[in-house]
Amino acid sequence: MRRPTSFHFQRLAEVCGYLDDDPWALQSTVENEPSRPCRDADPERFFPPDSTRFLGDDLLVERERIANLCGDCPVRTQCLAGALLRGEAYGSWGGVSQPDYHIIRRVLREDQDRRQEAA
Ligand code: SF4
Repeated sequence: MRRPTSFHFQRLAEVCGYLDDDPWALQSTVENEPSRPCRDADPERFFPPDSTRFLGDDLLVERERIANLCGDCPVRTQCLAGALLRGEAYGSWGGVSQPDYHIIRRVLREDQDRRQEAA
């Protein structure tokens, strides 16, 4: 199991302000953003094949590929927050590659579980 790094915690901190939002409203915000770089891109480019394991340099290549696809997207935080709130299991969201998205999703769930147990 991959460990989270400062990158994952930083992206998680960015989405915290959106975690009480309506996920479908966030999706609408993303879809209606005229300058989002993925607007005319093939959605398949954000969903790697199921068999991809991202070992070694493959992970670095995938991170760079998604970072280049998303560029300076103005709604990247809403994109990532919406995916987390909708419980998206696959895909690259908010400029985050699928393997990194899985780490962020896991850390968020663990944090939510801890909070529930403490309440
Ligand atoms: S972050 Fe990437 S996938 Fe999300 S809306 Fe922006 S360009 Fe599209």
